[in-house]
Amino acid sequence: RHADMAMYAAKKGGKNRYAFYNERLQQAAEDYTTLQHALATAIDQHELRLHMQPIIDLRTNQVAGYEALVRWQHPVKGLLGPDNFIGMAEESQLIFKLGYWVFEEACRQIHQYKIDGWVAINLSPRQFNDPQLVKQIISILQAHNISPGQIELEVTESCLIDSIDDAITTLQALCDAGLSISLDDFGTGYSSLALLKRLPVKKLKIDRSFIQDLDMEDRKIVQAMTGLAHTLDMKVVAEGIEETGQLHILNSMHCDFGQGYLFSKPKPMEELLNF
Ligand code: C2E
Ligand code: MG
Ligand code: MG
Ligand code: MG
Repeated sequence: RHADMAMYAAKKGGKNRYAFYNERLQQAAEDYTTLQHALATAIDQHELRLHMQPIIDLRTNQVAGYEALVRWQHPVKGLLGPDNFIGMAEESQLIFKLGYWVFEEACRQIHQYKIDGWVAINLSPRQFNDPQLVKQIISILQAHNISPGQIELEVTESCLIDSIDDAITTLQALCDAGLSISLDDFGTGYSSLALLKRLPVKKLKIDRSFIQDLDMEDRKIVQAMTGLAHTLDMKVVAEGIEETGQLHILNSMHCDFGQGYLFSKPKPMEELLNF
Protein backbone atom coordinates (compact mmCIF):
# COMPACT_ATOMS: atom_id res chain seq x y z
CA ARG A 1 0.00 0.00 0.00
CA HIS A 2 2.85 2.34 0.82
CA ALA A 3 4.43 1.64 -2.55
CA ASP A 4 1.12 2.38 -4.26
CA MET A 5 0.85 5.67 -2.43
CA ALA A 6 4.37 6.63 -3.41
CA MET A 7 3.70 5.78 -7.05
CA TYR A 8 0.54 7.84 -6.98
CA ALA A 9 2.38 10.80 -5.47
CA ALA A 10 5.10 10.47 -8.08
CA LYS A 11 2.65 10.50 -10.99
CA LYS A 12 0.82 13.47 -9.57
CA GLY A 13 3.69 15.69 -8.59
CA GLY A 14 6.82 14.61 -10.42
CA LYS A 15 10.14 13.61 -8.98
CA ASN A 16 10.49 16.11 -6.11
CA ARG A 17 7.15 15.26 -4.74
CA TYR A 18 7.99 11.60 -5.04
CA ALA A 19 11.11 12.13 -2.90
CA PHE A 20 9.09 14.10 -0.36
CA TYR A 21 6.31 11.57 -0.02
CA ASN A 22 8.75 8.73 -0.05
CA GLU A 23 10.60 10.24 2.89
CA ARG A 24 7.40 10.74 4.83
CA LEU A 25 6.25 7.23 4.10
CA GLN A 26 9.59 5.85 5.17
CA GLN A 27 9.37 7.86 8.40
CA ALA A 28 5.88 6.52 9.03
CA ALA A 29 7.07 2.96 8.40
CA GLU A 30 9.95 3.45 10.85
CA ASP A 31 7.65 4.90 13.51
CA TYR A 32 5.39 1.91 13.04
CA THR A 33 8.23 -0.57 13.50
CA THR A 34 9.48 1.29 16.57
CA LEU A 35 6.01 1.22 18.11
CA GLN A 36 5.63 -2.46 17.28
CA HIS A 37 8.88 -3.23 19.10
CA ALA A 38 7.77 -1.17 22.08
CA LEU A 39 4.46 -3.03 22.18
CA ALA A 40 6.31 -6.32 22.41
CA THR A 41 7.71 -5.28 25.79
CA ALA A 42 4.71 -3.20 26.95
CA ILE A 43 3.04 -6.10 28.72
CA ASP A 44 6.12 -7.13 30.69
CA GLN A 45 6.76 -3.47 31.53
CA HIS A 46 3.23 -3.20 32.96
CA GLU A 47 2.24 -0.50 30.50
CA LEU A 48 -1.16 -1.91 29.52
CA ARG A 49 -4.29 -0.70 31.31
CA LEU A 50 -7.78 -2.12 31.27
CA HIS A 51 -10.48 0.52 31.42
CA MET A 52 -14.13 -0.27 31.96
CA GLN A 53 -17.20 1.35 30.43
CA PRO A 54 -20.56 0.80 32.16
CA ILE A 55 -23.40 -0.80 30.20
CA ILE A 56 -26.76 0.48 31.41
CA ASP A 57 -30.04 -1.41 31.63
CA LEU A 58 -32.31 1.13 29.94
CA ARG A 59 -35.42 -0.02 31.78
CA THR A 60 -34.00 0.31 35.27
CA ASN A 61 -31.25 2.88 34.60
CA GLN A 62 -28.86 0.67 36.56
CA VAL A 63 -25.39 -0.47 35.60
CA ALA A 64 -25.82 -4.02 34.30
CA GLY A 65 -22.27 -4.77 33.21
CA TYR A 66 -19.04 -3.33 31.89
CA GLU A 67 -17.09 -3.51 28.68
CA ALA A 68 -13.34 -3.95 29.20
CA LEU A 69 -11.34 -1.74 26.81
CA VAL A 70 -7.56 -1.96 26.66
CA ARG A 71 -5.22 1.05 26.68
CA TRP A 72 -1.48 1.42 26.45
CA GLN A 73 0.22 3.85 28.81
CA HIS A 74 3.13 4.61 26.53
CA PRO A 75 6.12 6.13 28.37
CA VAL A 76 6.50 8.92 25.78
CA LYS A 77 3.29 9.11 23.78
CA GLY A 78 0.93 8.93 26.76
CA LEU A 79 -2.28 6.94 26.89
CA LEU A 80 -2.94 5.24 23.56
CA GLY A 81 -6.31 3.81 22.51
CA PRO A 82 -6.62 0.34 20.99
CA ASP A 83 -6.98 1.67 17.45
CA ASN A 84 -3.30 2.64 17.70
CA PHE A 85 -2.04 -0.84 18.48
CA ILE A 86 -4.58 -3.69 18.19
CA GLY A 87 -4.07 -3.91 14.43
CA MET A 88 -0.33 -3.96 15.03
CA ALA A 89 -0.70 -6.77 17.55
CA GLU A 90 -2.93 -8.66 15.12
CA GLU A 91 -0.12 -8.64 12.57
CA SER A 92 2.14 -10.52 14.95
CA GLN A 93 1.78 -13.23 17.55
CA LEU A 94 1.47 -10.46 20.13
CA ILE A 95 -2.30 -10.41 19.93
CA PHE A 96 -2.43 -13.71 21.82
CA LYS A 97 -0.33 -12.50 24.72
CA LEU A 98 -2.21 -9.21 24.78
CA GLY A 99 -5.58 -10.94 24.60
CA TYR A 100 -4.84 -13.28 27.49
CA TRP A 101 -3.44 -10.37 29.52
CA VAL A 102 -6.78 -8.59 29.03
CA PHE A 103 -8.62 -11.71 30.13
CA GLU A 104 -6.55 -12.19 33.27
CA GLU A 105 -6.74 -8.52 34.16
CA ALA A 106 -10.52 -8.55 33.78
CA CYS A 107 -10.71 -11.56 36.13
CA ARG A 108 -8.45 -9.79 38.61
CA GLN A 109 -10.63 -6.67 38.56
CA ILE A 110 -13.83 -8.67 39.02
CA HIS A 111 -12.40 -9.82 42.36
CA GLN A 112 -10.68 -6.60 43.37
CA TYR A 113 -13.72 -4.39 42.74
CA LYS A 114 -16.32 -7.08 43.52
CA ILE A 115 -17.97 -6.49 40.17
CA ASP A 116 -21.35 -8.09 39.84
CA GLY A 117 -22.99 -8.16 36.46
CA TRP A 118 -21.05 -9.16 33.43
CA VAL A 119 -17.74 -8.04 32.01
CA ALA A 120 -17.58 -7.99 28.22
CA ILE A 121 -14.25 -8.73 26.56
CA ASN A 122 -13.45 -8.04 22.91
CA LEU A 123 -11.93 -10.73 20.71
CA SER A 124 -10.26 -9.90 17.43
CA PRO A 125 -10.40 -12.34 14.50
CA ARG A 126 -7.00 -13.92 15.12
CA GLN A 127 -7.75 -14.48 18.78
CA PHE A 128 -11.09 -15.99 17.91
CA ASN A 129 -9.45 -18.39 15.48
CA ASP A 130 -6.79 -19.49 17.99
CA PRO A 131 -7.27 -23.29 18.31
CA GLN A 132 -6.30 -22.95 22.00
CA LEU A 133 -8.93 -20.28 22.70
CA VAL A 134 -11.59 -22.30 24.49
CA LYS A 135 -9.09 -24.29 26.55
CA GLN A 136 -7.13 -21.17 27.53
CA ILE A 137 -10.21 -19.22 28.55
CA ILE A 138 -11.55 -22.04 30.67
CA SER A 139 -8.23 -22.47 32.41
CA ILE A 140 -7.89 -18.72 33.13
CA LEU A 141 -11.41 -18.63 34.56
CA GLN A 142 -10.67 -21.64 36.75
CA ALA A 143 -7.35 -20.23 37.94
CA HIS A 144 -9.09 -17.01 39.01
CA ASN A 145 -12.19 -18.75 40.31
CA ILE A 146 -14.51 -16.72 38.11
CA SER A 147 -17.90 -18.00 37.07
CA PRO A 148 -18.03 -18.23 33.25
CA GLY A 149 -21.51 -16.71 33.39
CA GLN A 150 -19.95 -13.43 34.35
CA ILE A 151 -17.96 -13.18 31.13
CA GLU A 152 -19.33 -12.08 27.82
CA LEU A 153 -17.21 -12.31 24.69
CA GLU A 154 -17.68 -9.69 22.00
CA VAL A 155 -17.00 -10.96 18.52
CA THR A 156 -17.47 -9.12 15.24
CA GLU A 157 -18.82 -10.46 12.01
CA SER A 158 -15.27 -10.43 10.65
CA CYS A 159 -14.44 -13.18 13.17
CA LEU A 160 -16.96 -15.43 11.48
CA ILE A 161 -16.35 -15.07 7.76
CA ASP A 162 -13.32 -17.37 7.40
CA SER A 163 -15.22 -20.50 8.11
CA ILE A 164 -18.76 -20.24 9.38
CA ASP A 165 -18.93 -23.85 10.52
CA ASP A 166 -15.70 -23.63 12.52
CA ALA A 167 -16.87 -20.35 14.02
CA ILE A 168 -20.16 -21.87 15.12
CA THR A 169 -18.31 -24.83 16.66
CA THR A 170 -16.11 -22.43 18.66
CA LEU A 171 -19.04 -20.27 19.73
CA GLN A 172 -20.98 -23.34 20.79
CA ALA A 173 -18.03 -24.64 22.82
CA LEU A 174 -17.78 -21.27 24.60
CA CYS A 175 -21.51 -21.31 25.32
CA ASP A 176 -21.32 -24.89 26.58
CA ALA A 177 -18.59 -23.72 28.96
CA GLY A 178 -21.06 -21.14 30.29
CA LEU A 179 -19.81 -17.94 28.65
CA SER A 180 -22.11 -15.71 26.66
CA ILE A 181 -21.48 -14.16 23.29
CA SER A 182 -22.43 -10.82 21.83
CA LEU A 183 -22.10 -9.67 18.24
CA ASP A 184 -20.21 -6.35 18.24
CA ASP A 185 -20.50 -3.51 15.70
CA PHE A 186 -23.67 -5.13 14.42
CA GLY A 187 -24.97 -3.83 11.12
CA THR A 188 -21.60 -2.87 9.68
CA GLY A 189 -20.48 -6.33 8.51
CA TYR A 190 -21.67 -9.08 6.26
CA SER A 191 -23.74 -11.44 8.34
CA SER A 192 -26.86 -12.73 6.69
CA LEU A 193 -30.07 -13.18 8.58
CA ALA A 194 -29.87 -16.92 7.93
CA LEU A 195 -26.51 -16.96 9.70
CA LEU A 196 -27.79 -14.97 12.65
CA LYS A 197 -30.34 -17.67 13.35
CA ARG A 198 -27.58 -20.28 13.64
CA LEU A 199 -25.34 -18.31 15.98
CA PRO A 200 -25.51 -18.95 19.72
CA VAL A 201 -25.46 -15.22 20.39
CA LYS A 202 -27.21 -13.53 23.32
CA LYS A 203 -26.84 -9.88 22.37
CA LEU A 204 -26.46 -7.68 19.34
CA LYS A 205 -24.45 -4.52 19.86
CA ILE A 206 -25.79 -1.95 17.43
CA ASP A 207 -22.88 -0.04 15.99
CA ARG A 208 -22.34 3.55 17.02
CA SER A 209 -22.66 4.73 13.41
CA PHE A 210 -26.44 4.09 13.57
CA ILE A 211 -26.79 5.90 16.89
CA GLN A 212 -24.72 8.98 16.02
CA ASP A 213 -27.36 11.04 14.15
CA LEU A 214 -30.27 8.68 14.66
CA ASP A 215 -32.08 10.33 11.75
CA MET A 216 -35.33 8.89 10.34
CA GLU A 217 -33.48 6.24 8.31
CA ASP A 218 -31.29 5.23 11.23
CA ARG A 219 -34.33 4.99 13.49
CA LYS A 220 -36.04 2.63 11.09
CA ILE A 221 -32.94 0.47 10.89
CA VAL A 222 -32.41 0.41 14.66
CA GLN A 223 -36.09 -0.36 15.17
CA ALA A 224 -35.85 -3.25 12.70
CA MET A 225 -32.64 -4.60 14.24
CA THR A 226 -34.21 -4.45 17.71
CA GLY A 227 -37.33 -6.23 16.50
CA LEU A 228 -35.25 -8.89 14.78
CA ALA A 229 -33.13 -9.43 17.89
CA HIS A 230 -36.16 -9.78 20.13
CA THR A 231 -37.78 -12.21 17.71
CA LEU A 232 -34.63 -14.34 17.90
CA ASP A 233 -34.59 -14.09 21.73
CA MET A 234 -31.60 -11.80 21.76
CA LYS A 235 -31.09 -8.50 23.57
CA VAL A 236 -29.74 -5.33 21.99
CA VAL A 237 -27.12 -2.92 23.27
CA ALA A 238 -26.93 0.52 21.65
CA GLU A 239 -23.31 1.72 21.44
CA GLY A 240 -22.19 5.34 21.53
CA ILE A 241 -25.08 7.11 23.26
CA GLU A 242 -23.90 10.67 23.84
CA GLU A 243 -27.10 12.68 24.30
CA THR A 244 -30.36 12.37 26.20
CA GLY A 245 -32.28 12.83 22.91
CA GLN A 246 -30.77 9.60 21.61
CA LEU A 247 -31.56 7.86 24.88
CA HIS A 248 -35.26 8.84 24.71
CA ILE A 249 -35.58 7.54 21.16
CA LEU A 250 -33.84 4.27 22.03
CA ASN A 251 -36.02 3.87 25.10
CA SER A 252 -39.14 4.29 23.00
CA MET A 253 -37.87 1.50 20.73
CA HIS A 254 -37.48 -0.89 23.67
CA CYS A 255 -33.76 -1.09 23.25
CA ASP A 256 -32.53 -3.19 26.19
CA PHE A 257 -29.12 -1.78 27.06
CA GLY A 258 -27.09 1.33 26.33
CA GLN A 259 -23.49 2.36 26.48
CA GLY A 260 -21.85 5.68 25.75
CA TYR A 261 -20.30 8.92 26.93
CA LEU A 262 -23.72 10.10 28.17
CA PHE A 263 -23.38 7.55 30.96
CA SER A 264 -19.61 7.36 31.20
CA LYS A 265 -16.45 7.19 29.16
CA PRO A 266 -14.30 4.09 29.65
CA LYS A 267 -12.27 4.66 32.84
CA PRO A 268 -10.19 2.80 35.38
CA MET A 269 -12.61 0.84 37.59
CA GLU A 270 -11.41 2.73 40.65
CA GLU A 271 -12.57 6.04 39.17
CA LEU A 272 -15.93 4.59 38.17
CA LEU A 273 -16.56 3.41 41.71
CA ASN A 274 -15.58 6.74 43.26
CA PHE A 275 -17.95 8.45 40.86
P1 C2E B 1 -15.70 -1.60 20.32
O1 C2E B 1 -15.62 -2.94 20.93
O2 C2E B 1 -16.81 -1.36 19.38
O3 C2E B 1 -15.75 -0.60 21.56
C1 C2E B 1 -16.50 0.58 21.61
C2 C2E B 1 -15.66 1.79 21.30
O4 C2E B 1 -16.48 2.94 21.27
C3 C2E B 1 -14.60 2.07 22.38
O5 C2E B 1 -13.48 2.66 21.74
C4 C2E B 1 -15.30 3.11 23.24
O6 C2E B 1 -14.42 3.93 23.98
C5 C2E B 1 -16.03 3.90 22.19
N1 C2E B 1 -17.19 4.59 22.73
C6 C2E B 1 -18.02 4.19 23.70
N2 C2E B 1 -19.00 5.08 23.91
C7 C2E B 1 -18.79 6.09 23.02
C8 C2E B 1 -19.47 7.33 22.74
O7 C2E B 1 -20.48 7.68 23.35
N3 C2E B 1 -18.95 8.11 21.75
C9 C2E B 1 -17.83 7.75 21.07
N4 C2E B 1 -17.38 8.59 20.13
N5 C2E B 1 -17.17 6.59 21.30
C10 C2E B 1 -17.65 5.78 22.27
P2 C2E B 1 -11.98 2.21 22.07
O8 C2E B 1 -11.84 1.97 23.53
O9 C2E B 1 -11.08 3.19 21.41
O10 C2E B 1 -11.87 0.80 21.36
C11 C2E B 1 -11.89 0.69 19.96
C12 C2E B 1 -11.99 -0.75 19.53
O11 C2E B 1 -10.79 -1.46 19.89
C13 C2E B 1 -13.10 -1.52 20.21
O12 C2E B 1 -14.33 -1.25 19.56
C14 C2E B 1 -12.64 -2.94 20.02
O13 C2E B 1 -12.99 -3.42 18.76
C15 C2E B 1 -11.13 -2.80 20.11
N6 C2E B 1 -10.67 -3.22 21.44
C16 C2E B 1 -10.70 -2.55 22.61
N7 C2E B 1 -10.18 -3.28 23.62
C17 C2E B 1 -9.82 -4.47 23.07
C18 C2E B 1 -9.22 -5.66 23.62
O14 C2E B 1 -8.97 -5.81 24.83
N8 C2E B 1 -8.98 -6.68 22.74
C19 C2E B 1 -9.30 -6.58 21.42
N9 C2E B 1 -9.04 -7.62 20.61
N10 C2E B 1 -9.86 -5.47 20.88
C20 C2E B 1 -10.11 -4.43 21.70
MG1 MG C 1 -16.76 -4.14 21.89
MG1 MG D 1 -18.58 -1.89 18.84
MG1 MG E 1 -15.18 -3.19 17.62
